[in-house]
Amino acid sequence: RGSLARATDALGWSRPGAGQVYAVNDVSLAVAAGEVLGLVGESGCGKSTVGRMIAGLLPPTRGTLHFEGADISAPSVDHHLNIQMVFQNPYAALNPRQRVDQVIGEAAVYHGLVARADAPAFVAALLRQVGLDPSYASRYPHQFSGGQRQRIAIARALALDPKFIVCDEAVSALDVSVQAQILNLFMDLRASKGLTYLFISHNLAVVEHIADRVAIMYLGRIVELADTRSVFARANHPYTQALIADAPRLDANVVEHRPIQGELPSPLNPPSGCTFHPRCPRAMARCAAEPPALREIASGHWSACHLNGDVTPIHSLSTHHDH
Ligand code: SF4
Ligand code: MG
Repeated sequence: RGSLARATDALGWSRPGAGQVYAVNDVSLAVAAGEVLGLVGESGCGKSTVGRMIAGLLPPTRGTLHFEGADISAPSVDHHLNIQMVFQNPYAALNPRQRVDQVIGEAAVYHGLVARADAPAFVAALLRQVGLDPSYASRYPHQFSGGQRQRIAIARALALDPKFIVCDEAVSALDVSVQAQILNLFMDLRASKGLTYLFISHNLAVVEHIADRVAIMYLGRIVELADTRSVFARANHPYTQALIADAPRLDANVVEHRPIQGELPSPLNPPSGCTFHPRCPRAMARCAAEPPALREIASGHWSACHLNGDVTPIHSLSTHHDH
């Protein structure tokens, strides 16, 4: 119901020679059309894996993905044009040998979305939409600043007329003033094109700025999910509380931050019970023995922690969210 992209159950990836390792496990997310869902966690928690699977860059080994009601678990060009991705590093993401008009227009011509003869006007319009001068079409990526390159990467994503964009640390490599500009561009494009975003970031300040709801991931699982205001005003999970207490400011996120004592454990050998228990300041005996279920602790607010007691589990995340 209004659900645009949804990933359910165990979405995994296997690592040859290391047995079956699930980078993400029992993750169930539904994103409504027009919504911005923030996905937050430390580096290595599996958030990029979720994003890459939704964008069709990594097939799930288990579980399913649905887009506008259709099963897209098996990659198909049709559906994956609808879901584009914008990455952290606009330097690496653009082919240095391609001119900007090729970078932006080539895939759209290839997929028959625009005739080759119309490509120059098509590219010029996209450059304007992302706040760049159409005369830049004949230049090469190295001639631009980081923020301009990220605008070019966004124009390339928009060229395929997506409905859904996965942003993976899309502003994390940029200077703070540029970050705000790019976030504003994402919000403007959401309004003008009706876009939906999964906005992946380790930086809570960025996510607070842009997201309607926030999902917090720890070691391949969602540990808390709520509307953005609730997450910041009434964080329930000790991991979320620690992230918020020690959140870097918007201008201090160039290096991924490790706010919690201790390293993120290896997904190859996750801790027993609640996988956060070795680092949790509130861990109890039960926590090492028994994994907590993700439960709805208030309307639309989900958390996986034994401190919440035995609230009756609700089996599906797919029906609670209206937009
Ligand atoms: Fe901490 Fe226990 Fe809650 Fe896990 S279940 S977050 S270890 S209190
Ligand atoms: Mg990542």
